[in-house]
Amino acid sequence: MSQIPFLDIEKSVLGDIVISDTLWPALTFLCDACNGRFAGSEDEQRAADFIVRSLQHCNLSDVHIEEFPLRGWRRGPARVIVNGHMLPCIGLPGTPSCDLSAPVLLLGDGEPLDFEKAGELARGKIALVRGKGSHRLEKYGRAVQAGCVGFIFSGTEPNALPPTGSLEYAGQPAPIPGVGIAYETLCRLERIAAQGEMTGHLQIEAQTFDAVGRNVIADLIPAGVDKPDLLMMCAHYDGHDIAQGAVDNASGTVAVLEAARALKTAYDALAAQGAAPARGIRFALWSGEELGMLGSSHYAHCHADELARIRLVFNCDIVGNPGALFLGVNGYDTDRLVTFLNRLAGDRVFEVQAGNRTLIPYSDHFSFYLKGVPVLMAATGGGQSPGPHTHGDTLDKVDVRAVRWTTAFAARALLRLAVSSLPDLSPDLSPDLSPLPARHATMEEVRAALRAAGYEVLLDRPSRWS
Ligand SMILES: [Zn+2]
Repeated sequence: MSQIPFLDIEKSVLGDIVISDTLWPALTFLCDACNGRFAGSEDEQRAADFIVRSLQHCNLSDVHIEEFPLRGWRRGPARVIVNGHMLPCIGLPGTPSCDLSAPVLLLGDGEPLDFEKAGELARGKIALVRGKGSHRLEKYGRAVQAGCVGFIFSGTEPNALPPTGSLEYAGQPAPIPGVGIAYETLCRLERIAAQGEMTGHLQIEAQTFDAVGRNVIADLIPAGVDKPDLLMMCAHYDGHDIAQGAVDNASGTVAVLEAARALKTAYDALAAQGAAPARGIRFALWSGEELGMLGSSHYAHCHADELARIRLVFNCDIVGNPGALFLGVNGYDTDRLVTFLNRLAGDRVFEVQAGNRTLIPYSDHFSFYLKGVPVLMAATGGGQSPGPHTHGDTLDKVDVRAVRWTTAFAARALLRLAVSSLPDLSPDLSPDLSPLPARHATMEEVRAALRAAGYEVLLDRPSRWS
């Protein structure tokens, strides 16, 4: 039997993804049949079962669900009334119920300096912060620390609707109630604030209950290799209850499912000619990301003994926006990987920008970064997002071409990284020049990098390190 050149196998992976007729039906099912797939809900369970069926259909090994405990949350009505004016708002997931009145204090972007300036003035007030700058949870944490009794968080773009987003961090209950308001409502409140004092009345109904989240895991193991090193391709499939979580992150979920199918075919083609890749690929679809990366951090904790085998975590989060593909790489010894990814993009073939200068802490790869594993987050677009975390994140917003190109690029990169110790490939695939980091980061190196990036706050959350 004549050998099929590696490059031809690679081309068939790319072609398979570009002309695939399963990508759109999968996206449609995840969005239209499973709604927002809120962690711990029946919609989430339906999505998990669909993902299991999809991965089983590709004949991957050990397809299974791993459950983890979480605090379920169900929204009820929310009202915010300021100086007698009822304003549109939504409860933020994890918020406790409340019925309270207190002065409202405008605290700018809710950055450390804003709270420093307010000092004791913030105590006993309802904090009103703009969504710009640091992450919602950082602003919320500052409001809690400052002794605020409520939290109002605004959108940053016109017509982008009130933003949602969890108030729980690492599974801890949210201590004070919070709502999201649209940018336009913030503008109105800023005008009211300019006239004088603001008195707020916050009424929120919400239920919390014990629930489980479900991670779906599957392996692609090279023929005849026992316990190989692994690359992990992952995405969170859970979303928010107010929309379809189409861009964030049915898009990434489908990228993983499509890459899994195409890569399985490539492994089979290589195996048929006795050329097993050196590494396996583990596919993971997380739940609970939107509630604080619960699924991935639970996994990283429970599988600590396996992490040494994971050479890279490739996380797809928001890959359905039109525009370039950004690859944020973090970890020890990642320069060669960045060079490899930028070279693989080619000249005007894939519009890709890979870099390792910015630490991105707010998606599932971070659960592994904290354990020293080299990680990468893939996202498309740039400032053109239709508004993840709002009612506007619906299927019609997904740029299917962006999903296809991201998937094709990711599959190609993973295939090359998986086979890079095979002989007789092009010189840049020689084992001496493997683009994969030589080792994991030590805990000291992780801590130093967090400190340097200004994320000391994450060092103070003991549960993140457990
Ligand atoms: Zn996301």
